[in-house]
Amino acid sequence: MESGNFTLNELYKSANDMCLKHWGVEYSDQIELVHTNWSVQNAVFIYDRGTGERIIRMSTKRNAIRSKEGVLQSLLHELVHWRLHLQGLPCRDEDPEFIEECINVGANISLAKKAQLAFEQFMLERKTT
Ligand SMILES: [Zn+2]
Repeated sequence: MESGNFTLNELYKSANDMCLKHWGVEYSDQIELVHTNWSVQNAVFIYDRGTGERIIRMSTKRNAIRSKEGVLQSLLHELVHWRLHLQGLPCRDEDPEFIEECINVGANISLAKKAQLAFEQFMLERKTT
């Protein structure tokens, strides 16, 4: 397995590539790499109400023990949060708009129970309409 220990520049480049591919725009916000050991999360999207900054945060230690594909999948998932947030659309893991966009671009759905239930509901409703 090739390690997902990307440099910050590589993460920016990948984020740009994915944003251009899926939405025709560049990634215009921040990515932060912290060095903390994370056990329960792979990445997180943060909106700072105070400064208005949007940040995707990842951990070098976490990324290093994951595969390249896994890290890029996590980055794409956070980019969906970013994209919808930028457009002022609902962007929580359990929002139907978020789930739909994840399906469109091939991003993972959160494993959190609320999100999984919302995903099941979304698929059920899609079948019946
Ligand atoms: Zn999420």
